Amino acid sequence: MSTLEIRDLHVAISEADGSLREILRGVNLTIRDGETHAIMGPNGSGKSTLAYALAGHPKYTVTSGTVTLDGEDVLAMSVDARARAGLFLAMQYPVEVPGVSVSNFLRTAVTATRGEAPKLRDFMKEMRGAMSGLSIDPKFAERSLNEGFSGGEKKRHEILQLELLDPKIAVLDETDSGLDVDALKVVSEGINRFRAKPGRGVLLITHYTRILRYVQPDYVHVFVAGRIVEEGGPELAEVLENEGYERFTGAGASA
Ligand code: ADP
Ligand code: MG
Ligand code: MG
Repeated sequence: MSTLEIRDLHVAISEADGSLREILRGVNLTIRDGETHAIMGPNGSGKSTLAYALAGHPKYTVTSGTVTLDGEDVLAMSVDARARAGLFLAMQYPVEVPGVSVSNFLRTAVTATRGEAPKLRDFMKEMRGAMSGLSIDPKFAERSLNEGFSGGEKKRHEILQLELLDPKIAVLDETDSGLDVDALKVVSEGINRFRAKPGRGVLLITHYTRILRYVQPDYVHVFVAGRIVEEGGPELAEVLENEGYERFTGAGASA
């Protein structure tokens, strides 16, 4: 049993002059295990801000509201503690780290999450199996983290992390951007393998509807101007695909 519960979350970003600008204006969302939720919304609506706030990024200040995972206060946790609690946020480590290989990075992340270092040989075997399932060239493991990664490589690496860290709840932001159709299929299969396991939940954040053809959400939330303005089932994604966000942006502006 896992439940991620976001209640009346308000988040502001720090401007260059030190003032705060409110981006999230009262987000409410509950994700239970076995459920896949999609958050969809126009550019600039605050979708990534939600993901960064959940990840504990220092630039994003939670001004009010709560986030709990199985009743535990996520907002009080360090970034590593969030991972240990079972929350996966792909952008936790977005930086280029020259000199740190993908395999070293992954082993460190797995160690931090599981609380003990896997035996090197076991880990290598596990990693290679996961890589082959994602059609990732074995040489990729020796590359420097994020250095010169293409959009597609970043996204495959993200799903590789997901597979190895095996969290309870995965938050995936714009996982489909920068992917050609073949890569989109591989990445989607990875997400579908993850969510098919018992006790797992997914929050898929996206501007586009195309990934939702491969990863069918149970619930779709329309996100406009820092809050959810409409909720429905997978049919809502079809409405958005056909009509865009226009009819909802009106609702967001007047909210
Ligand atoms: P989305 O992911 O829906 O496109 P974002 O969360 O990226 O939206 O952005 C929401 C708003 O917050 C935008 O107006 C954006 O310019 C602003 N914003 C987000 N992150 C930052 C940041 N680190 N510094 C300054 N402004 C930011
Ligand atoms: Mg954006
Ligand atoms: Mg975004």
